[in-house]
Amino acid sequence: MNNKILLTFDVEEFDVPVEYEQKIDLEKQIEISTIGLQNVLALIEKHDVKCTFFTTAIFALEQTELMKIIARTHEIASHGYEHSSFKNSDLKKSKETLEALLDVKIFGYRMARLAPVDDSEIENSGYAYNSSMNPTWIPGRYNHFFKQRTPFQTGNVWNIPTSVTPVFRIPLFWLSFKQFPMWVLKKMMLRTFEHDGYLSLYFHPWEFTDIKTFNLPTYISKYSGEKMLQRLEETILLLKNEGDFITMNEFVNNQKNNI
Ligand SMILES: [Zn+2]
Repeated sequence: MNNKILLTFDVEEFDVPVEYEQKIDLEKQIEISTIGLQNVLALIEKHDVKCTFFTTAIFALEQTELMKIIARTHEIASHGYEHSSFKNSDLKKSKETLEALLDVKIFGYRMARLAPVDDSEIENSGYAYNSSMNPTWIPGRYNHFFKQRTPFQTGNVWNIPTSVTPVFRIPLFWLSFKQFPMWVLKKMMLRTFEHDGYLSLYFHPWEFTDIKTFNLPTYISKYSGEKMLQRLEETILLLKNEGDFITMNEFVNNQKNNI
């Protein structure tokens, strides 16, 4: 069996400036994400790779036609109702909203900012999998350094952590793509890929829009727009030689069939 690549995007209103006390209205937040999303779509279409898009219900309500087009080829999963707030009832509400709006079945959930979420609530809300855990230590955010770094089941819910390197657990997530030189990232991705047999990567569409005009920390805005598109393309080209791009739900079904 070939190694698998789970390339995923968290489609959300661009609320990062709000975290840094800058005002940005919802219309602008949606616009920034939409530009990046269209850039991402052009790239993944060019390379014919299948991805998973975790979207907030708010974004899908604002960009319904675009999300419907994406749903024809890729998996749509839930990234909550809105990005900046959460209550348990949003789990079910976002799933039902997306299913009715886009006429698809929603299997997966990812929590905004990978905040902790109760797996029993995920299961009760009708999801098959949860991809909300980065099994490493991110100072000031979370510490999952000693949690399992590969897929595991809690009740009937499959947990698919995002990829970190073996041993040192360097996260292969969006921020690392702005900190490390590409040759280091490539080495870490291949090492993890060989070790685990799959890679679970995640980005946000707004990273693929030029956001340098916002007053954000350079570790967030240094690589955006064209520079990030180049990095994503290099990643796709590297991994395309090594395995198959599949959706997260396809991967979960493979896990089920393997036990
Ligand atoms: Zn998010």
